[in-house]
Amino acid sequence: MRRSYAPYSRFCVGAALLTREGRIFQGCNVENASYGLTLCAERTALGAAVAAGHRRFTAIAVVSSGQTAPMPCGACLQALAEFCRPDFVIVTAAARNPAAMAIYPLKDLLPRAFRLG
Ligand SMILES: [Zn+2]
Repeated sequence: MRRSYAPYSRFCVGAALLTREGRIFQGCNVENASYGLTLCAERTALGAAVAAGHRRFTAIAVVSSGQTAPMPCGACLQALAEFCRPDFVIVTAAARNPAAMAIYPLKDLLPRAFRLG
């Protein structure tokens, strides 16, 4: 989250993606002046992991600078569903509010992921 690039929203997000082999890949949101090009922390972590040769994951933790636990957006859920089983664990938390934490299986947040075929 500290490495987040969020000059427009000031909403900093960090993600830690756990592989089935026990490695952790970090990500952060990367905003852009053309807002639609902004990358979420979940997808930058996923990209880092895949670029390093990992494609099997068990969990992701997502932490934001807000007061409430952030919910992954639909695009990130779909990106995770490409590589993760329905029981993949998503932990969300607010850095400044320890009481704001939630845990979800991927299947609860994206019960009908898009699949080809
Ligand atoms: Zn997202």
